[in-house]
Amino acid sequence: MNLRKLYLTKNECYIVGKKHTPKGIMVHSTAANNPWLKRYVGPDDGLLGKNQYNNHWNQFRPGGRQVCVHAFIGKLADGTIATYQTLPWDMVGWHSGSGTKGNAGLKQGYIGFEICEDNLTDRNYFNAVYKEAVELCAYLCKLYNIPPEKPYLICHCEGYKLGIASNHGDVMHWFPKHGKSMDTFRADVKKQIEKDKMEGELMEFINKLTKKTGKTEAEVIDALAYLIKHANVKEDKWEREGIDYLYKESKLINTARPANAPVHWGEFGIVLKRFAVKK
Ligand SMILES: [Zn+2]
Repeated sequence: MNLRKLYLTKNECYIVGKKHTPKGIMVHSTAANNPWLKRYVGPDDGLLGKNQYNNHWNQFRPGGRQVCVHAFIGKLADGTIATYQTLPWDMVGWHSGSGTKGNAGLKQGYIGFEICEDNLTDRNYFNAVYKEAVELCAYLCKLYNIPPEKPYLICHCEGYKLGIASNHGDVMHWFPKHGKSMDTFRADVKKQIEKDKMEGELMEFINKLTKKTGKTEAEVIDALAYLIKHANVKEDKWEREGIDYLYKESKLINTARPANAPVHWGEFGIVLKRFAVKK
């Protein structure tokens, strides 16, 4: 997740500044073909790019409406995906509208964020913002102990059906076009929480070793890798074996790390496996 912060301090919602304790999350999408964050978040911080119409939401009432959300997910000027936090999470947001049983954002502690829509057909863009949204929700669920389940983690249209939001279709007019739903979303958030937890434990273990040895993280990994290389296992196999262990058996990692990640998971996995076997 590429999480950044730019509070919409000129928005009426921020100025009113009512506090709440976050108890749920409502996922929205913008219902307009404009994936650029600068449409909603401003002024330009050097990454967003300039909104030439100056119609972003950092103004008293954007488009004359009393609206504000806690975050937007969309494209930076360079085309990469980011999340911008636009309100403190513990501040009431104006995002859900009212249903027959109340107002999720105003009265019931729902954090609300918008995913910027494109023309709804680009699979790559969808996958990227979906992943970003999963990571954001996992982060928030952990931060505020919010269960990644209905009715705590819902989209706007589910909120409407529950009677706590206005009659909008987001995000179920979009997710199913790419084989996803709020049920897959909740399941993916659950998985992400588990993955974050496991990675945290793994890093704790590495930190323990760095503290004990006085070496840097990279040095510890290198040392472990060196030891493994001299074990009686063929190199191409131990890498595969280690990764398999991390993914399948230990369930420590669910998805691949970015190519520039400093930790070699395969190498580390085989170390953990050896430890597990020796115990
Ligand atoms: Zn909505």
